[in-house]
Amino acid sequence: AEPTEPAASESGAAAKAHEAREGAQKFSFQAEVSRLMDIIIHSLYSNKDIFLRELISNASDALDKLRFLALTDKSQLGDTADLEIRIKVDKEKRTLEIRDTGVGMTKDDLVKNLGTIAKSGTSAFLEQMQKGGDMNLIGQFGVGFYSVYLVSDYVEVLSKHNDDKQYIWESAADGNFAVSEDTENEPLGRGTLIRMHLKEDTQEYLEEAKLKELVAKYSEFINFPIHLWASKE
Ligand code: ADP
Ligand code: MG
Repeated sequence: AEPTEPAASESGAAAKAHEAREGAQKFSFQAEVSRLMDIIIHSLYSNKDIFLRELISNASDALDKLRFLALTDKSQLGDTADLEIRIKVDKEKRTLEIRDTGVGMTKDDLVKNLGTIAKSGTSAFLEQMQKGGDMNLIGQFGVGFYSVYLVSDYVEVLSKHNDDKQYIWESAADGNFAVSEDTENEPLGRGTLIRMHLKEDTQEYLEEAKLKELVAKYSEFINFPIHLWASKE
């Protein structure tokens, strides 16, 4: 048989996806954050489900912040008045997305909160992990976001804050991340969308039943609706 070219969606997009967008501004993670991410992405920890707990918790925090701002300034709600969380899978692209209509992050927030400024808990958690500590405690150390690399090898964070344009943060957890203005995705209105490109061995998170189970488990103390969108196959 003739050798066949891999499908365009598999070769081009997937390979390119792990390279920062052209014209993006590149940053190095703060050293301890980088070490922590390296441990997480290579972790054999079996209870990977916790990443969704952390992302739902962050979405809920962002929605709380927006709701608080809107108490004194209703205009903060803009055209995006529904305060909610949406989870969506794309089985073809093997991506899982969690989106909130919370306060969002400016470009500066993305750079600082997701990479260049280590929190006090970063080194403490790093130390715990090196001693064989429990990954499940990650949220208590203030670094829950990075648990996204338990299941992803490449992550995009799209965010729109009322005070700034829409930006994309992206990283393959290789010590670097990049930030660029988002000119290719749908406008979020306001809030944040985390797009996870799932690892080869974590495809179970594309299954509706699995996501339903996790949402039921982690939504107990969340005061905002969480909608689950199944992909059209
Ligand atoms: P923590 O939630 O304990 O502060 P995380 O590592 O989970 O730590 O998140 C780091 C920071 O990134 C948050 O404090 C917040 O500023 C920002 N962040 C993460 N997710 C979101 C989100 N969905 N919307 C807005 N900001 C977010
Ligand atoms: Mg958190």
